[in-house]
Amino acid sequence: MTARQMNFIRGEDGETMNWNDKLSNAVKSVAPSGIRKFFDIAAKMHDVISLGVGEPDFVTPWPIRESCVYGLERGYTSYTANRGMLKLREEIARHYNEKFNVSYDVDTEILVTVGVSEALDIALRAILNPGDEVLIPEPCYVSYQACTSLANGVPVSVPAKIENEFRITPEELEPFVTAKTKAILIGYPNNPTGAIMERDDLLKIADFAEAHDLIVISDEIYGDLTYGSVHECFAALPKMRDRTILLNGFSKAYAMTGWRIGYALGNPDVIAAMTKIHQYTILCAPITAQMAAVEALKRGEKYMLKMVADYDRRRCLIYDGFKTLGLNSFEPRGAFYIFPNISSSGLTSEQFAEKLIQAEHVALVPGTAFGKSGAGHVRCSYATSVDKISEALNRIEHFLKNHR
Ligand code: PLP
Repeated sequence: MTARQMNFIRGEDGETMNWNDKLSNAVKSVAPSGIRKFFDIAAKMHDVISLGVGEPDFVTPWPIRESCVYGLERGYTSYTANRGMLKLREEIARHYNEKFNVSYDVDTEILVTVGVSEALDIALRAILNPGDEVLIPEPCYVSYQACTSLANGVPVSVPAKIENEFRITPEELEPFVTAKTKAILIGYPNNPTGAIMERDDLLKIADFAEAHDLIVISDEIYGDLTYGSVHECFAALPKMRDRTILLNGFSKAYAMTGWRIGYALGNPDVIAAMTKIHQYTILCAPITAQMAAVEALKRGEKYMLKMVADYDRRRCLIYDGFKTLGLNSFEPRGAFYIFPNISSSGLTSEQFAEKLIQAEHVALVPGTAFGKSGAGHVRCSYATSVDKISEALNRIEHFLKNHR
């Protein structure tokens, strides 16, 4: 290699390209996630208690890990079918049949993906033409708007109201419907609020979707994490199976975030369209993760229920703790988040999160990272130990004394 070639590789020849002009408008239109910033601050500090991360603090239960080890030992290292291993699709179909009495054909109506993240991305890409609008109740998971924009769609945020525990209603959605509205994207139990949707709420959304002929993308990744209420599967509601693209995965319920495994269920045409994108961009989800997911569905429930019981104890502790501190929240009944109102501190949600981490080394996420209607709130994850939650509450109490 010549010296000039070497220099070029190192970018030392003075030639720079204006990459900002070259990047796609869709990418440029999307802001970086408001969550990351606080992780980056936390990573540089000692002694930080993080209530910021939306991730179980449990390790994947051993039998699930073991099935992967066993698979590797037997030499399972190849690609699988694009749609995912038949065994896994069969287990997913069985699970939905038994739990929600809704049936999916293993050959045409199930696609195994790299997490719900991929399923969400390709669902949107499969249905959206440029300019198509997607109704997105907020506060919501940070990827909903971004993935819609990246798929050249238009995210239309619909603020949900705290008075209604952030359950969205058709009356709130109606003013945002236009001729270009193609879908509604809901996620419940909700990240970041911990709110659930009851059957009656969902039936109204179902009627609304039918009246406007909308696709419903239903992200039910936290469906197994409910406390004192039973999760209702959107696709199992009357007349909703064909209209719904149901997304679910293993990250949260089975503490399998790093395995990257999820799935989409829906009408054969949309699953075929999603499979086309998946086949060209991903090919298939990793075989070892798929084997572990089979084990999770076959024998993982008792471990999952134990984790849910643990989250429930922590939920009660943090809910009572915030109440005592005068930071009110409705009682979260799903996922592992609580969304207290911090406006009595006199700070905005960004100021609160920033000052708290600097002063007390407690990381949480400002509510506005999840949409404008999160203003005045912060998201705290209680997927951390009881000791850490108690210590975080002490530190927040100390912080409030200095800032109220
Ligand atoms: N959907 C919601 C609501 C989430 O909170 C998350 C992760 O935090 C995801 C999807 C992504 O999940 P996965 O790990 O399956 O990609």
